[in-house]
Amino acid sequence: VKRSKGTGKTEAYQTQAFDIAREQFGMETALRRAIERGQMRLTYQPIVDLATGQLVAFESLARWRGEDGTEHSPNDFIPVAEESGLIVPLGRWAIQEAAATLAEWDARLGGDCGAKLAVNLSAIQLQRDAIAPVVQSALAAHGLDGSRFTLELTESALVTDPDRIAGIMHALKDLGTTIAMDDFGTGYSNLAYLQKLPIDVLKIDRSFVTGMLSDRDKIAIVRAILSLAQALGMQTTAEGIETNELAQTLAALGCTYGQGYLYARPLEADAAYAMLAERLN
Ligand code: C2E
Ligand code: MG
Ligand code: MG
Ligand code: MG
Repeated sequence: VKRSKGTGKTEAYQTQAFDIAREQFGMETALRRAIERGQMRLTYQPIVDLATGQLVAFESLARWRGEDGTEHSPNDFIPVAEESGLIVPLGRWAIQEAAATLAEWDARLGGDCGAKLAVNLSAIQLQRDAIAPVVQSALAAHGLDGSRFTLELTESALVTDPDRIAGIMHALKDLGTTIAMDDFGTGYSNLAYLQKLPIDVLKIDRSFVTGMLSDRDKIAIVRAILSLAQALGMQTTAEGIETNELAQTLAALGCTYGQGYLYARPLEADAAYAMLAERLN
C-alpha cells in the first residue's frame, strides 16, 4: 500500500490499523472457505515415554495450506478463527478428523493401534460450543473408547467462567478422556484450580524447556512444576525437547513424557501411521 508523504501521524496510524483489519478479514474469508472446502488437515507429533523412549501418543496439530501454496502457521490462523467464531467449525472438524484418523489406524493395524491422540481445545471454543457432546459423538461415530483421546486445554480457558469450564472438564472425564493443561506455567497465576479440576497431565511449556540446561531460573521452574505435579498425582509432558541432553535430564528429574523435534516434527498422517506400524513390527 502506498502512503502519500506528509500524512499526519494519526492518519498514518489509521491507515495501518485499516491495513491490519483488511489483512485479518482477508485471512478470515480464506480460512472460512478452506474449512468449508475441507482443505484443513491435521499433522501428528509423537509423544514418548521419557523413561523408555516408547511412543505413547500423538498430538494433533492443525495445518492450512493456502490456495497459493503457503503454509499458514496455527499461531496466525487460530487467533483469527477465535476472533471470527470460525473456531467452532474448525474445532469440531479437528475432533472429528482426529477420531476418524485413530479409527483408520486401528483398522489398518487390526486392533487398538496403541497410541492416544491429543486434540487442542481453544478457550473460545469451550465458551461457544458444547464440546463434551461433540467429543462423545465423534468417539461413538467410530466406536472408539474415550480413553483414546487426550484433550489439551490452556489456563486461559479458566479465566472467564471457571465453574462452567469445570463442568465441561468433568463431562469430558466422564467420557473416559485424559485432560492435559497445555503451556502450563505461562498463563493463570492462581493455582487453586489445580486441586479442584480433574487434570491428569501438566504440559510444561516449551519456553521453560528450551535453554533450561544453561539457565538456573528455567530449571528451577521446571523442577517446581514437576514436584507440584507429583504431589498432586499428575503426570507431566515436556514440550520442545530438541536434544538428547534435555531428554535425559528431564527423564532424570522424573518428567513422564516428552515431545519435540528430537523425536519428530509434526508428521503428515501417513508418516505418523508408518511410525506406529514400525513400532508394532
Ligand atoms: P501447542 O499446543 O503448545 O503445540 C506445540 C507447538 O510446539 C506446535 O506448534 C509444535 O509444532 C511445536 N513444537 C513441538 N516440538 C517442538 C520443538 O522441539 N521445538 C520447537 N521450536 N517447536 C516445537 P504448531 O503446530 O505451530 O502449533 C502452535 C499452536 O497452535 C499450538 O501450540 C496450539 O496452541 C495451536 N494449535 C495447533 N493446532 C490446533 C488445533 O487444532 N486447535 C487449536 N485450538 N489450537 C491449535
Ligand atoms: Mg497442545
Ligand atoms: Mg503446548
Ligand atoms: Mg505452546
